[in-house]
Amino acid sequence: MARTVLHGIAVSSGIAIGCAFFFNRKPDTIRHTLVPVESIAYEVDRLEEAIQKVMHDFALAKQHLMEDSSEQVELLDSHMLICTDPKLRGEAIRRIQEQRMNAEWALAESVEGLAKMFSKISSPYIRERIQDVRVVAQRITCVLEEMAAGLKEIPELEKIHDVDASKQIRQEARRILLAYDLTPAEALLFSLQRITAFATEQGGRTSHTGILARNLGIPAVVGVNGLGNDVLEGDLIIIDGIAGKILVEPSEADLEAYALRQGQFEAYQKKISTMAGALAETQDGYRITVLANVEKSQEAAVAIECGGEGVGLVRTEFSYIARTSLPKEDELYEEYARLTAAFAPRQVIFRTLDVGADKIFQERRVLDEPNPALGLRAIRYCLRHQDIFRRQLRAILRAGAHGNASLMFPLISGITELRQAKAILYEAIQELEAEKLNFQTGMRVGVMIELPASVFIAQDLAKEVDFFSIGTNDLIQYTLGADRNNKHVAHLHQPLHPAIIRAVKYVVDMAHKEGIPVCVCGEMAADPYCIPMLMGMSVDSISIAPQSIPGIKHIIRNSSIEQCHELLQQVLAASTVQSVNSLVRHIMYDKFPQDMIFFASQLDTEG
Ligand code: PEP
Ligand code: MG
Repeated sequence: MARTVLHGIAVSSGIAIGCAFFFNRKPDTIRHTLVPVESIAYEVDRLEEAIQKVMHDFALAKQHLMEDSSEQVELLDSHMLICTDPKLRGEAIRRIQEQRMNAEWALAESVEGLAKMFSKISSPYIRERIQDVRVVAQRITCVLEEMAAGLKEIPELEKIHDVDASKQIRQEARRILLAYDLTPAEALLFSLQRITAFATEQGGRTSHTGILARNLGIPAVVGVNGLGNDVLEGDLIIIDGIAGKILVEPSEADLEAYALRQGQFEAYQKKISTMAGALAETQDGYRITVLANVEKSQEAAVAIECGGEGVGLVRTEFSYIARTSLPKEDELYEEYARLTAAFAPRQVIFRTLDVGADKIFQERRVLDEPNPALGLRAIRYCLRHQDIFRRQLRAILRAGAHGNASLMFPLISGITELRQAKAILYEAIQELEAEKLNFQTGMRVGVMIELPASVFIAQDLAKEVDFFSIGTNDLIQYTLGADRNNKHVAHLHQPLHPAIIRAVKYVVDMAHKEGIPVCVCGEMAADPYCIPMLMGMSVDSISIAPQSIPGIKHIIRNSSIEQCHELLQQVLAASTVQSVNSLVRHIMYDKFPQDMIFFASQLDTEG
């Protein structure tokens, strides 16, 4: 492959250089050819070899899992079982032998045959297992394509020093995960192998796979046009998670330049991390609390090390995805208690289950929704499935006894919905009391402001809760009507759109009028261009990916609140997103010329 530059959306800062490893490709690009009779045996061998390779990959992923990842082990085991399933394999081989289909085609046809069979089974759980079969088959297809292209498996060799840079990288087998699309559950599994970066053809600025990459601290670019066509398995690539670029088969000069840039980025990270533990206080004495967004208790140590003063958002759904069954109350309780205890006496805010849209767990797949982002998501799902909701509320309440926990409900659209959720919470409290179980009394309850509806009724909502947390990822999606996972409208995901600025300001004002604090926990709070404006609004706290904390604290400490107030006034007077963007860009580049080159910003997503 010749040197090529691809463009996408930078979602997690950093530079990575390594070899391409495809997890899946666009589903409708499978090669259909008739195999000559004399090559049938070879084609069958090719399929068998690909299945073995995928088995090996899953076994490797299993080895890299943490000790307490029994659910992920379960999922990988089920994937390995699918690999060896005689029906899938046998059917594919039969099609190669009898119908002379090439292996990729035969496999795809066998999957469709199985899907038809599964669709007749009455148990929705069994019926939905076909999704797992598809995931495994996609992976086998990638390996088959790689073999067809005459590519060899990336060798896992020791470092060899006296060769040129590109050879050395290939031989170190640094792997960059590429995919047409990657669900957060898949990313969670494969991030644990030796993956140094991600890139996907699909995805938007705040899709959850990108958020996961940021929390894992690895560079990522999503929404990359041409990724599947222009990159071959094993190609040497550079992922530029700051500019949102991918260099395929770079020249030695590119490698040299990027190695230098990588070194500069790492040196910058190291420099700002020395001050990560210091408070985020401006030169003129304004303080803002900086909290961490986490998914799992294992991230606690990193979040503290990065300077997190607590946790402002636990995305609890990550304990429900990438597994085959729902977690039990005790399992959730232990996980939440570990997190609460790790941060005690600092606060940990648990966001109740927000499944749906791009975060799908096994039971949830049963739903066939035409428009999941507007469907039975988050609090709506919990109010429909009160057993699942109650189990989680009980676990959070019990975990609170180990420190200082709060909880908040996502995607609240009205007072009635909030009252329904609180009524179930109250019942859970009564149950725990009756069962004489230990739990945190007087736990603070908040709502996430993520819908235009909740903005308009902010003052009424504020009277019924202890705090607000503004989820700008969804607030932007629903206010501007731009799907956060869709790269074709990524340029419309504009945190500095006047409608967003005014909405956030109104919510903060209403909360303060009613005497409750406001946190901003969407990606906007980790964007250096947006932070001065949020400070100007007197937001009480922000909650961001642990890796983003040192940089944002650095910006806050070197700002002046007076200037932030001035900027906010100018921004509020502007009527176009372009004028706001140029205003903040100008100010930030002027004030932080050395820093801004190391940040990926939502403002840089071009149409
Ligand atoms: C948000 O919507 O801004 C948010 C923080 O929640 P999530 O990204 O998990 O939807
Ligand atoms: Mg949200």
